[in-house]
Amino acid sequence: MIRLTRKVFTDLAIWMTGLGLMMGLVFPFFVVMMGVESGHVLTPWFFAATMTAGFIVGGANIWLAREVVGSRLRTLADHMKMVETSLREISRTGNLEQCAPETCFITVDSNDELGESGRAFNYLIEALAALHRSDAAVRAFTGMLSSQLELETLTTQALQQLLQHTNANAGALLIASGGELKIGASQGIRTPAAIVDSDHVRRALQTGSRLSVALPDDVAVEGVLTDFRPREVLVEPIFYKGVALGVIVLASAAGFSDEVKSRLDLFCQGMALALNNALTHDRLQKIAALDPLTGIYNRRFGMARLSEEFGRAVRATTPVGVLMFDIDHFKKVNDTYGHLAGDRVLIQVAKTARAALREGDILMRYGGEEFLIILPGASKEDSLGVGEKLRRMVEDSSVADGDQVIRVTISVGATSYPEFEVTADQELVKRADEALYQAKETGRNKVIAG
Ligand code: GH3
Ligand code: MG
Ligand code: MG
Repeated sequence: MIRLTRKVFTDLAIWMTGLGLMMGLVFPFFVVMMGVESGHVLTPWFFAATMTAGFIVGGANIWLAREVVGSRLRTLADHMKMVETSLREISRTGNLEQCAPETCFITVDSNDELGESGRAFNYLIEALAALHRSDAAVRAFTGMLSSQLELETLTTQALQQLLQHTNANAGALLIASGGELKIGASQGIRTPAAIVDSDHVRRALQTGSRLSVALPDDVAVEGVLTDFRPREVLVEPIFYKGVALGVIVLASAAGFSDEVKSRLDLFCQGMALALNNALTHDRLQKIAALDPLTGIYNRRFGMARLSEEFGRAVRATTPVGVLMFDIDHFKKVNDTYGHLAGDRVLIQVAKTARAALREGDILMRYGGEEFLIILPGASKEDSLGVGEKLRRMVEDSSVADGDQVIRVTISVGATSYPEFEVTADQELVKRADEALYQAKETGRNKVIAG
């Protein structure tokens, strides 16, 4: 239909009145054809009457169209405008709860084109709301990711948010570090360690793409993963610049919607970057804290720990013991077997010392072949006991060098706060060093308390 103006009801009015007038003009000739005497019909009065009638019918039609269709269209337009205002407000405040059906959707009460338009509009709103939800979830997730650098906190919080934003009931976050997979965090999984060796995880890492395992009701689930029966399990590998950094495993009792799956894609992009940063940070921290040869704490990091432990002991009025030990005649080991063999002896002594200590004790490489041990809670007597145990263990251990066996002994100086009353941790170190010196002076391979 030719458009005459830019308004549909004005177009309709022009077409209808035009058609009414045309009908009025044609009608007298039609009446003549029906056999009525033309002298009665083809008169100005009759023409005026039929054209007026046509005009009135046209006018009535316009009124009806405006009433029947126009009012519905107006209601639809008003509704759409109202929804648009609500959506603007929601996108400004981010408060999705405001998007209740009565504020964000229009009522569809007809099965015609208008109903169809209403339905299409509601679908559009639904898609927009889903987009908003995803946007808000991704923003919350990336906000959390960018504020965390510690690997442990990052994995725990990331998993929590992943579970929340994907409506998963259980999940785990595996970290690929140093060529092996480890559990970073897990929630609701019965035996997280079993996931590490799962075929699905291996396959997801090999293919580099997501694996969705659907478990319909009639499929028996072997070695149940969770306390509930999962309907779907997602296994999502995390890659950063082609390097596998980890795997996200999510299990749901109800299954995952497409919306959730595409949201997960967005999460993974942020997760890969954050995980890479946290892993790098973790590695750097280890490098900064550890002695590269023996793998135990270096002096800088160890002394910082001593300061912490000493402060804690003073505050809590609990003892803290310090041992300092040095390998006897180590120069001779180097001279006889070579520097590399000497290195292996150092590694072995550090390993033996680690084995002689308890979980909370701190072992550090203090200097070349000098080591310092912090024993939280240990009195002088306890420290002497640990020193003696360590001395014996080193004496009993050995390092093979070809067909030769290298054996070394150590001299140990021991002290403890508050039996030895000091105001600074450095004084404890000095005292242990003096005791060590005495042990050297009086024959070596012995423990002396100072
Ligand atoms: P003492 O019983 O008096 O402690 O005698 P010692 O020979 O052990 O004492 P000294 O301090 O004179 O010698 C320590 C030697 O330890 C000298 C140095 O070459 C060696 N050393 C220090 N750091 C390392 C290391 O990282 N690797 C190796 N192989 N040797 C080291
Ligand atoms: Mg020595
Ligand atoms: Mg020395």
